[in-house]
Amino acid sequence: MSEAKLREDICRFGRSLFERGLTPGSSGNISLRLDDGGWLVTPTNASLGFLDPARLARLDAQGRLVAGDAPTKEIPLHTALYETRAAARAIVHLHSTHAVAVTMLPEIDPKSVLPPMTPYYLMRAGQTALVPYFRPGDPAVADAIKGLAGRYSSVLLANHGPVVAGETLEAAVFATEELEETAKLYLLLRGLNPRYLSPEQVSDLVRTFGLSLQEHSAHDH
Ligand SMILES: [Zn+2]
Repeated sequence: MSEAKLREDICRFGRSLFERGLTPGSSGNISLRLDDGGWLVTPTNASLGFLDPARLARLDAQGRLVAGDAPTKEIPLHTALYETRAAARAIVHLHSTHAVAVTMLPEIDPKSVLPPMTPYYLMRAGQTALVPYFRPGDPAVADAIKGLAGRYSSVLLANHGPVVAGETLEAAVFATEELEETAKLYLLLRGLNPRYLSPEQVSDLVRTFGLSLQEHSAHDH
């Protein structure tokens, strides 16, 4: 795919996410790994709703800015996940309301933030790890993501938001949307004793679709 097309895709998906209220103000950022080892990254202080394809930050394989505006200050979140997920080609980070909300609940299991509620959450986002709270800009957050050793394609930063990797930009966006919707379902059903997918139903999905989940046992959230 040409770089021009990829630039347009970042802006198109960014606008779509912003217009649906999935990340407010100038929050959220998107990155994409290019064939030459470099990256396209959304600029610092840019709203995902109003991106200009020509002004996206273009980084070389060493992470140096070679064209466009300065990249988001949250780039360590992206590089940490790329470093441990060899197949990742795109990463989406949002400040989406429901996903942020669940990070603050006392019962959350850091190894599996959300229970197996729908097949598409498991198929697109897999399981989601919770990364503890870090002040914005604290480099320790990258170490915490690397500490998960690439076992998760989706992580939730406590009191902050999701960081989700995909093999394509579309896959990363769709997985982020599944994560947000699953967080919303969890909040809607919290305290109502809902029936989640059973361990047998989860095992069947794992077998049929070749999913690699960290632990696919039933949760008693
Ligand atoms: Zn953020």
